[in-house]
Amino acid sequence: MRLIIFGPPGAGKGTQAKLLSSYLSISHLSTGEILRSKLNEKDEISFRLQNIMSSGNLVSDDILNQIISEKLISKECDPGFILDGYPRTINQMNYLNNYNQKNNIVINLIINIHVDNLTIQNRILNRSKKENREDDSIETIETRVNTYNLETKPITEYYKNNHKLIYYEIDGTNNVEEIQKKLINIVKNANFSWFFIIS
Ligand code: AMP
Repeated sequence: MRLIIFGPPGAGKGTQAKLLSSYLSISHLSTGEILRSKLNEKDEISFRLQNIMSSGNLVSDDILNQIISEKLISKECDPGFILDGYPRTINQMNYLNNYNQKNNIVINLIINIHVDNLTIQNRILNRSKKENREDDSIETIETRVNTYNLETKPITEYYKNNHKLIYYEIDGTNNVEEIQKKLINIVKNANFSWFFIIS
């Protein structure tokens, strides 16, 4: 099964994607995690990445498209995958659509987790204390939320309007277990739509 999960920063999409990927025994492709693992390399590119990420801005589409195109056709994605954090721009979405078409990759489900702004702020601040993520400071929250609204929300609108049969919105203000239960129900009932191709 192949899914895309959307949600503003702090919506809990990373947590949910991780749980769902282990429930379905498929790969969890978090572009944020992939990029953070590159920061340990301490070369020139990693310093540039660090600057962009700690400011709350987006890394270039070319870098992300490259990362994703290597991953999606790799062995680890054979059983399926959950895309978490990609696509994040219209350019990335178009790239993904073309790439999937060329490689006969079918997206079965698109899930969008909704959360209001105040909950987002509180959650990110709590996470920054627990995980010590540089991009979770109060200064960058605003940039990250604005970037999401400006660059990523239009993509979710596109999917919502064009792929109604495989697009689901869920309330992200509930607790982790409740959200996970809802997601599992969606996944269990999704067999009927497995043949739709995103294009
Ligand atoms: P995340 O863990 O998904 O919140 O991502 C952390 C940071 O990594 C983001 O704020 C961006 O700077 C960068 N990033 C992750 N995914 C993407 C993407 N698809 N396009 C551009 N930048 C990304």
